[in-house]
Amino acid sequence: MELLTTSARDLDRAAEAIRAGLLVAIPTETVYGLGADAWNRVALARVFEAKRRPSFDPLIVHVAEPGGAAEVADLSVPYARVLSERFWPGPLTMVLPKRDRVPDLATSGLPTVAVRCPANTFARQIIRRSGVPVAAPSANPFGYLSPTRAEHVVAQLGDRVDFIVDGGRCPVGVESTVLDLSSDPPLVLRPGGLPVELLADIIHGLAVYDRATTSPTAPGQLPSHYAPARPLYLVASGGLPGAVPGGTAAALCFGVESTRAALRSGRWAKVVDLSPNRDPVQAAAALFDILHELDAALFDELWAERLPDLGLGLAVNDRLYKASVK
Ligand code: AMP
Ligand code: MG
Repeated sequence: MELLTTSARDLDRAAEAIRAGLLVAIPTETVYGLGADAWNRVALARVFEAKRRPSFDPLIVHVAEPGGAAEVADLSVPYARVLSERFWPGPLTMVLPKRDRVPDLATSGLPTVAVRCPANTFARQIIRRSGVPVAAPSANPFGYLSPTRAEHVVAQLGDRVDFIVDGGRCPVGVESTVLDLSSDPPLVLRPGGLPVELLADIIHGLAVYDRATTSPTAPGQLPSHYAPARPLYLVASGGLPGAVPGGTAAALCFGVESTRAALRSGRWAKVVDLSPNRDPVQAAAALFDILHELDAALFDELWAERLPDLGLGLAVNDRLYKASVK
């Protein structure tokens, strides 16, 4: 593996590598992606191998320009064009009828493909220079925490990728919102970096996948995913216990009030505040970074409180739930 910078020369090398069928970890505004030429079946197979990802989990295909999506998907379905104009480049992935040319490996044999135009300018330059759409799942081993820094990719997948482009920390910090436009009404399959409320403003009768009432149909809906190696217990907002049974434990709080309460109890080996002023955007940006840190610190247990289900709070709760002990 070779670490690349975001210099024009290195972005060219990254693009060349993708064109040559190699694997390149690229920064996006959500999390780091493990990029490969979406037209190249061998390269796609290498993505699954590197991630140890079950092949039923389809990849998100990234394009450099909103207009480039038409090459891989049919945007004539309701809302696709409106949403691409409104939210791309950005943290929205749309599931759309696929073009014949898209390999089954990218879509796990589904007739639909997930497409996104990311906002990160380095990601877009790499894709543009490569001249191909770039299939990129998150650059983590299947089931483990998503990477929000190049160091996370180095530590988790360093020996299984060809290049890692270090574009610094991912500002959004959680994966994209996945919206299925092939179903009627459109369905949010995974809450993420784009608040669901913004989609609901535009889409009449928008449905949101609810794990409590529906069994998983899309792979991102698996109940366990993005998990740290330590057991993580998720509790209601304000519900962190005053005492932890045995061992050392870290508390993940949302806001000064619960942070103070946790510190006062004196029971926690470490107390972390995801956002002192209870801003879910700030919490999302910090989430995986903090989970990586806490996981590496080898506490016996992690405890986290839920955020209100508003804006990016929905995405943060979804990731915390998936990371948690059921
Ligand atoms: P990741 O690339 O790791 O952020 O995960 C990609 C996620 O996108 C998958 O786990 C699915 O939830 C979703 N996805 C990708 N393609 C499709 C598709 N054709 N239909 C439904 N969901 C999809
Ligand atoms: Mg992932």
